[in-house]
Amino acid sequence: MTSPPELRLPDHISHSSREALERCAKQYFLTRVAKAPQTPALWLAGGSAVHEATENYDLLAFAGMLEDFQAEEVWNAFFDSQLAEAREREENENLWRQAATEPIEVWRRMGLQFVQAYVDWRERSPWEIWTTPDGFPAIELDVSGKLPGCDVEIKAYLDRVFWDPVLKRLVIVDLKTSKRPPKTPAQFETYAALLKAKYDVQADLGAAFMNRRGTLGAPFDLSGVTPQAVGAVYGEAWRQIQGYMAAGNFPADTSDCFLCDVKAACHAQNGPLAHLYDPASPGYPIPF
Ligand code: SF4
Repeated sequence: MTSPPELRLPDHISHSSREALERCAKQYFLTRVAKAPQTPALWLAGGSAVHEATENYDLLAFAGMLEDFQAEEVWNAFFDSQLAEAREREENENLWRQAATEPIEVWRRMGLQFVQAYVDWRERSPWEIWTTPDGFPAIELDVSGKLPGCDVEIKAYLDRVFWDPVLKRLVIVDLKTSKRPPKTPAQFETYAALLKAKYDVQADLGAAFMNRRGTLGAPFDLSGVTPQAVGAVYGEAWRQIQGYMAAGNFPADTSDCFLCDVKAACHAQNGPLAHLYDPASPGYPIPF
């Protein structure tokens, strides 16, 4: 007899989990609650390695040790480590989600260019890494915490916060290796509210560094963002999650399943693992 999986809500929410909830509540459930296996995506492995390599650059720059930064060596080490992690989850690379035009060997070259594009921008930009009041460089800065109106912790790590010494303003920057810039300011608003709640400083702007273009995307104005307004949005999302959990049903939205990484566990898509993870499947161990 199959043991029923232990189903518990996570103890936090985040921008990406709220985004998943909005896109498809079933996807939120399968990834965050049922912990269904997620098919690796090469673009995520490459993107994470770019984040790690550029973080390494900024940490060395902050410590005055840039002579130790070897872009190609650092990139290859992080990319290989991300590939190894993906292979642990799915050893057959043909099953990974990946763009036909961007297989591993293309990513190997392209990812290094993305890292170099960031380094070049850092060298020509007058912006400085902001230092928090408690003395930490704002590189992968953990600003997780609670906001008014939301009962649960909101997790967030800010890629960078820069101080613009010319215009005297704080800018939150998020690195993006995707082709398109963010359509809405939601991610930056979340970060600005948590930054304000943790350090009592107001970010003025939020912008994506578009690694493929080697420059910043159009900035979002964050000067009016408040912890109260953002907390209310997350509080509502959390209540929705609790409601779905109480009802025992996270509805599936099948309008856009193309990029979903838990399709194999989804009953709405006849996934072969649905009976193990999706309570909507007739073969599921027990209803929750
Ligand atoms: S496959 Fe589609 S319906 Fe199923 S969880 Fe993913 S996005 Fe939702």
